[in-house]
Amino acid sequence: MSADGASGHLIEAKEVPRPDVQRGYIEIFEQLCKGCDLCIPACPVRIIEPGRGANMMGWRPVVVEADLMKYCIGCNLCAMVCPDQAIEVFRFDEPVPHEELP
Ligand code: SF4
Ligand code: SF4
Repeated sequence: MSADGASGHLIEAKEVPRPDVQRGYIEIFEQLCKGCDLCIPACPVRIIEPGRGANMMGWRPVVVEADLMKYCIGCNLCAMVCPDQAIEVFRFDEPVPHEELP
């Protein structure tokens, strides 16, 4: 058990500095994810969260809420730690300020 005693994450998501530009986004392949949650603490901006529903295998795939994806920096760390290749990362050529997002 970790410092927060519950989530297993050493740093609470609300304590993590987040950029005001978006540099990329991720796609989570729900049917490949086994809900191991390794990607959650790997994300420097803590936008990946435990899933709520089950996939066809009965696992609980992680999610990124739509309003949090704008903080993605496209660092690829989530995909690197995933043992099941369940995440693909897309990186923008140029960072996009949040106020310019559609
Ligand atoms: S690419 Fe980086 S910032 Fe984006 S979700 Fe993955 S770990 Fe987080
Ligand atoms: S590391 Fe991969 S398999 Fe594990 S929860 Fe994240 S996306 Fe799912």
